[in-house]
Amino acid sequence: MRAAVFYEAGDMRVEEKPKPEIGECEALIEVRATGVCGTDIHIYKGEWSVPAPLILGHEFSGVVFEVGREVTKFEVGDRVVAEPNITCGKCRFCLMSERNYFCENLEAIGVTRDGAFAEYVRVPEGNLYKVPSGISYEEAALIEPLACCIRGIDRAGIRVGDVVAIIGAGPVGLLLLQLAKASGASTVIQTDLVEERLRLAERLGADRTVNVGREDPAEAVMALTDGYGVDVAIEAVGRPETITQAINLTRRGGRLNIFGVAPQDALWSVKPFELYDKELTITTSYRSPFTFQRAVRLAASGRIVLKPLVTHTFQLSQIDRAFEVAERKIEGAIKVIVKP
Ligand SMILES: [Zn+2]
Ligand SMILES: [Zn+2]
Repeated sequence: MRAAVFYEAGDMRVEEKPKPEIGECEALIEVRATGVCGTDIHIYKGEWSVPAPLILGHEFSGVVFEVGREVTKFEVGDRVVAEPNITCGKCRFCLMSERNYFCENLEAIGVTRDGAFAEYVRVPEGNLYKVPSGISYEEAALIEPLACCIRGIDRAGIRVGDVVAIIGAGPVGLLLLQLAKASGASTVIQTDLVEERLRLAERLGADRTVNVGREDPAEAVMALTDGYGVDVAIEAVGRPETITQAINLTRRGGRLNIFGVAPQDALWSVKPFELYDKELTITTSYRSPFTFQRAVRLAASGRIVLKPLVTHTFQLSQIDRAFEVAERKIEGAIKVIVKP
């Protein structure tokens, strides 16, 4: 099969590889669409270490091509998406709660074992979910990030009527926007530097957008909230500066979810007094525990739209270009998809 193999920072090569051998409880998936995630870009730039050589790609959809002997719930031809995180079920964390992602032996497809920037990928049966026919493969590739965003929304604790600020209008920010609306937020304010992204945010329901290159987000938020700040802020960028910005936008007693994933070595400076004085509830969000079923259902319901987020599609042979477009956010890129 053809696959894009990551060797080291800046070095990914499209090569011929043997088709993966599946275990008794696994299925071989013929990949149809794989999203380029911020995580893939961090790895590609050397900001996150992974065992290499490795095929990246953890946001994918495809068709079941072959099943192991013990597989009972899926058959050849099923359209599927996959939860990339594989837990051991035996370690202390796994035993503490049903399927905890702090698993000490956690594997993740496309992060610790071969992923889906390839023609085929092997997936344990327990990680597969069927996709309704109304959802295209490109849209289905967004179900994994949607599942992660549902975790973020759960952790942010939005109440009906809350005023919410979402920092960043990339693919994740735009999913969080729709989820915040679906959770009953009365007003969602979204910030970014890229004008096209903010226009799309408006189409997807943002009540107010702020281009932080031209306008001070704190001023805009205070004007909208009688000088108090938002009830809930969600940081969807993953940078120390934007986390600080999110704190500044949040009212006293408000809640902040730090959703964006910062580079491994990034440091954040904070005034502890300010946290004390505001009595903020700060949460973070780690992967997608127990949120996949809800993500599939929400995508199928049409309450969350995925199609407008897919702006670019590339063949596997053009993966370098796909990563460049996604990383530099050029040509109006939001979600970049690779098709093997
Ligand atoms: Zn991802
Ligand atoms: Zn475990």
